[in-house]
Amino acid sequence: MIPITDPFRAFTDLWRWSARLQEAWATARLDPASIQRLQAQRLAGLLAHARRHSGYYRERLAHLPEGVPALSSLPIQTKTELMAHFDSWVTDPAIRLDEVRSFVADPSRIGEPYLGRYAVWTSSGSTGRPGVYVQDDEALAVYDALLSARFPSADAVPSPFSTLATGGRFAMVAALEGHFAGVVSWERLRRRYPLMALSTRSFSVLAPLRTLVAELEAWRPSVIASYPTTLLLLAAERRAGRLRLRPRALWSGGETLADVERAEISEAFDCPVIDGYGASECMQIAFDCGCGALHLNSDWAILEPVDEHGRPVPPGQPSATALLTNLANRVQPLLRYDLGDSITQLAEPCACGSPFPALRVSGRRDDILKLTGRDGRERQLIPLAVATVVEEDGGARRFQVIQTGQRRLSVRFETPEGVARATALARIVEALSGYLAREGLDGIEIVEDPDPPRADPVSGKLRQVLGLRASAPSAPLAPAAADAPAAPARR
Ligand SMILES: [Zn+2]
Repeated sequence: MIPITDPFRAFTDLWRWSARLQEAWATARLDPASIQRLQAQRLAGLLAHARRHSGYYRERLAHLPEGVPALSSLPIQTKTELMAHFDSWVTDPAIRLDEVRSFVADPSRIGEPYLGRYAVWTSSGSTGRPGVYVQDDEALAVYDALLSARFPSADAVPSPFSTLATGGRFAMVAALEGHFAGVVSWERLRRRYPLMALSTRSFSVLAPLRTLVAELEAWRPSVIASYPTTLLLLAAERRAGRLRLRPRALWSGGETLADVERAEISEAFDCPVIDGYGASECMQIAFDCGCGALHLNSDWAILEPVDEHGRPVPPGQPSATALLTNLANRVQPLLRYDLGDSITQLAEPCACGSPFPALRVSGRRDDILKLTGRDGRERQLIPLAVATVVEEDGGARRFQVIQTGQRRLSVRFETPEGVARATALARIVEALSGYLAREGLDGIEIVEDPDPPRADPVSGKLRQVLGLRASAPSAPLAPAAADAPAAPARR
């Protein structure tokens, strides 16, 4: 049962969204220089707001001249540092980390406005330190408007709102077991607009694949939104004839979608696959133009590709990380925030003619695990589901699950404070075994790897789930950096 919330708020939200939508359409018709000017105005507004209302930024930016300093002169922010100063970082003194933590510890409050007015979500703990993100009404209206306005214009691709208007149904397959960005946004809209709730349904990525297939088959959605690894498994079910539904479009997000995978999924379902790039820190960073590139929503987000020393990386070269400035959200300002994603700004203009800068994102992906059941049949597991089980049920924060055989997994993990290592291991093994049994994989051997979790030597990222080949001894792993990049907004 979805509670019906304040109709006045629903009305003002709709009005705010509509105003932002008109603006987003108008901005897309501007030339790049005019969009840059709009970006500069919004940056100046955000900086002034942060200096006035955030004690943390007042102190951190005190050495800079009054007015609008160059963005490159601002210090780079990390999740660890911002989370350590949470109460003085946020610009509304009513928001307190201890209270937000109790709020997000209660799954029954997913989608409920915090303090009656904010959306709150958490990121995964791949750094061992989950982030908590508070979004104000304006930011939420901007994310919704960008999602609606920047959809590929090809006739074959139905926009979210035209799909609903023509009686289409939505399905989101995601991690639903926590206050993650995807599910909170989804539930927020369902609570706010009861009519929309009738045509949208979310499905847990933790459900066994055969259950998920049966449920999707019964719901017959016209649009399915999920992670690329989930869409790949659903595509295999479609090819095998076990999934017969015919969606009009598929949305992919939360992980990197490779070109060959997009082609594979699109061919299996005979419909377009729309990619997106967002994070817990900013829900709509870039959009898919339909020509094979992502375009930065540069009117609302600034993304600086930098090397490992924070120096700018020229177009055409992959960056070590990207610094995000979110111009939409003022309650928890993000200025030059180290996002941890490797991006490449395209050197050539995109064929679509968009005035927004084109880019590619790489390396936001774990592996699909392929384990063999007692019956000799192979079963594939969605990495995000495996990670969610270890994190939510297993209680681990910083960990790696590594496939070391057809029926064998090993687990590296940091022992949580105040817990005996054997107890922590038992909890992880119990959570994983239960999940594997539900997938028809009982009796899989799970062993402890005493090594600490190790970051990928190329990307510097801590990948949480590694398949058989990726974990072969020929690929040496470097020790994880103390402040490893944030996990994708996978959830
Ligand atoms: Zn394009």
